[in-house]
Amino acid sequence: MKHRNLLALSLCALFTTSAFAIEPPNLGLLRNDLVQYHDSGKYNNQISTVYQRAENYLATRIHENDQSAHPKKLAVVFDIDETALSNYTDLHALNFGGTSQSIDDALQKAKDPAISPALDLYHEAMQNHVAVFFVTGRKPYLQNATIKNLTSAGYKSWTGLYLKPMSYNLPSVAPYKSGARKQIESEGYDIVLNIGDQKSDLAGGYADKSFKLPNPYYYIL
Ligand SMILES: [Mg+2]
Repeated sequence: MKHRNLLALSLCALFTTSAFAIEPPNLGLLRNDLVQYHDSGKYNNQISTVYQRAENYLATRIHENDQSAHPKKLAVVFDIDETALSNYTDLHALNFGGTSQSIDDALQKAKDPAISPALDLYHEAMQNHVAVFFVTGRKPYLQNATIKNLTSAGYKSWTGLYLKPMSYNLPSVAPYKSGARKQIESEGYDIVLNIGDQKSDLAGGYADKSFKLPNPYYYIL
């Protein structure tokens, strides 16, 4: 028995000490999987599931606030790309790569459609006088295109739109995003929920609850 355990441990060490003990996934095949994930409807289904949970939570919080003797100024925070708007058509056209310039060029076109359940949550918030804030990693030179795109996609108004300052130079966007939420709460809002497709959208607090959407298409530290 002892020997068998030792053998298992040795095998385990053999496979975990080398990063390439198993050949990494093939990029060409992974790209096919990414397209299939989208085209099969799984991506949209998983997005809808997360948004449904967020909507249920928001409804509960609105109800509680309505009953409260001391109602709060409620707010929701949305990230933009792959959260409120979908860049999938451009991501696919760029073969899930592209340079920062080609991605900016795509965003400048301001033609991205709304992610449909995001628009539902947005309407739910607006109809119940919950303030909507957008906190995005997009740069300030994309402000006009962003406003144009949000508006044409159906997000007709909002209380605040935060774009990442050009001077921001930390490796992760998380401190910028949590700083924006801190600022919002310092203005007297209670951020009921924060929703985004990257962990860095959600890290650092200043939201009662966070909702993580799927995004296998890119990673933002
Ligand atoms: Mg995003």
